[in-house]
Amino acid sequence: MTQDEVYILKASLKDRKRIWRRIEIKGNQTLRDFDDVLREAFKHDHEDHLSGFFSGDAWKSKQLGVIEPYGGGTNSKKKISKLDLLEGTTIEYVYDFGDNIQHVIKLEKIVDSIPGTNYPRITSQNKPKYQYCVACEKIQKNSVATWICIECSSEKQENVLLCDDCLDEEHPDHYAEELLF
Ligand SMILES: [Zn+2]
Ligand SMILES: [Zn+2]
Repeated sequence: MTQDEVYILKASLKDRKRIWRRIEIKGNQTLRDFDDVLREAFKHDHEDHLSGFFSGDAWKSKQLGVIEPYGGGTNSKKKISKLDLLEGTTIEYVYDFGDNIQHVIKLEKIVDSIPGTNYPRITSQNKPKYQYCVACEKIQKNSVATWICIECSSEKQENVLLCDDCLDEEHPDHYAEELLF
């Protein structure tokens, strides 16, 4: 175990495996650093909600650590190398203990770090599948949807997908979530 090991991990949404990100993090970085890059990769709020790491199935296996939005939490300073992960091992990550968004994380490989590189970093992701804004479609315009209006979607019982402009203009105070591609 050297300070310069880099862990290459593939994180996917547990209930939508098509959505994945490949992440590289150094062995001497912490669960907090890992949480940070996962929140960025999956567009989770950095300032809200707890998250947690599990050694296997979420909630059914050992909790490796809990991260609070502003950085504290059990084992938040624990180093990745201290998790004793082996290549091929799978752990799980839960963002928001209320919404319980589960992610499966597989350690693909441990390699040497590349000097001058900033870790952790996101190196690749699934091929994005874009959908169009339903409001723009009505006026025969194709704009990539970046949001889902949760309020309108549950009211209409269909996915109300919107571009930035239409969300701002037509759904200003509605609860919306950013789409993941
Ligand atoms: Zn639009
Ligand atoms: Zn709306």
